[in-house]
Amino acid sequence: MVKKVLKFGGTSVGTIERIQHVAKIIKKEYDLGNKLIVVVSAMAGKTNELIDLSNQISENFDKRELDVLLSSGEQVTCALLTAALIKLKINSKSWLNWQIPILTDGDHNNSRIVNINVSKINQYLNEGVAVVPGFQGISKNGDITTIGRGGSDASAVAFAKLFDTDSCEIYTDVDGVFSSDPNKIPVAKKIDKISYEEMLELSSLGAKVMQPSAVQTAMMYDIPLQVRSTFTDRKGTKIFDQQNIDYTKSVTGVAYSKDDAKITLLGVEDRPGVAANIFEPLNKAQINVDMVIQNVSSDQKITDITFTIKRDDLIKTKEILQKNKNIKYESITHNANVAKVSIVGAGMVSTPGITYKMFKALADDKINILAISTSEIKLSVIIEEENTLRAVKKLHTIFELD
Ligand code: ADP
Ligand code: ASP
Ligand code: MG
Repeated sequence: MVKKVLKFGGTSVGTIERIQHVAKIIKKEYDLGNKLIVVVSAMAGKTNELIDLSNQISENFDKRELDVLLSSGEQVTCALLTAALIKLKINSKSWLNWQIPILTDGDHNNSRIVNINVSKINQYLNEGVAVVPGFQGISKNGDITTIGRGGSDASAVAFAKLFDTDSCEIYTDVDGVFSSDPNKIPVAKKIDKISYEEMLELSSLGAKVMQPSAVQTAMMYDIPLQVRSTFTDRKGTKIFDQQNIDYTKSVTGVAYSKDDAKITLLGVEDRPGVAANIFEPLNKAQINVDMVIQNVSSDQKITDITFTIKRDDLIKTKEILQKNKNIKYESITHNANVAKVSIVGAGMVSTPGITYKMFKALADDKINILAISTSEIKLSVIIEEENTLRAVKKLHTIFELD
């Protein structure tokens, strides 16, 4: 007998038939004598639908009420799945975030789980399957809070950690983690084992199969994860401590995101403190600046500064820059149609020439690089959005991932 967290994502519970199918997967595990905590997402599309409804009331929908609204998606799945299990003659009970409770900290719409009361559910696991909602909790003031898009993965990891389970299995709509998004790059290959570090980079850089904060928590507390398909029996991907992995390839995967924008300040006065003056108010407004490039000025007096931000922050960022009295520049330009394409691999550390190989491949395909950032195990470039898939496919091929 082992204690497990099983997490089912939106597509896996997207219809009544799929919920019934998920109930059968759970029954198999339950019949083996396992103690099961099942974390569920809202049915596919539900959270987006709720966001659309909120926008019809107001684009500035009250944040507290938005959490009340969005958390309802997972509540629906909890009840439907639990009832499907009961129909299969399995003892099962659903628990809402405040009934457990799942305690959160931080802002509305962007909280994080800090504690989960284990007593009631632990006791119940002797009797049946506990079904709990992902993506949410309750603050110390008693308000319902959500933990960011894709947050059910983080809920699953939090349950695995606080209940000290033997495994944490993420059931989703693909067979595991692939060398690139298998729905966009059909030649992508499933990865059998991947380190926390690589998975964290891949998910932060756009591989939405795992949510980055879930991977980060798993890495911090060394909670091995398994990503696998709800719809096939194929072996999935193990995410765990990298020491156990033998690297044969320098690059493990190619990720991309299309939610970036690029801003350039032209003709900025070049003197000490200018960068701090530009970025301080952005930091205060919680705008995340990703890549920064400063040109070397020929006369040491003026320069150009380019940086990237999330596309959603573009208007706010431009407003802040335009209001900033502490900086002098000639003009601002922006490009909202850029994408970030990244290669990730722990094997990159020990392989020389990766940077050249990536730049050369993009140049051969006439793809212009607008900004670059590197770390030990990743290399990212900003390019025009229209070139995204062409760039991903090319890199996937030249780094022998096809
Ligand atoms: P869930 O609803 O189960 O949480 P998500 O839609 O959040 O599922 O994540 C699964 C999706 O992630 C896949 O359908 C796939 O299109 C996408 N994806 C992007 N990059 C990758 C990758 N490298 N490996 C696997 N899936 C990926
Ligand atoms: N339902 C939430 C979302 O769509 C959480 C999740 O599915 O992980 O973002
Ligand atoms: Mg997800």
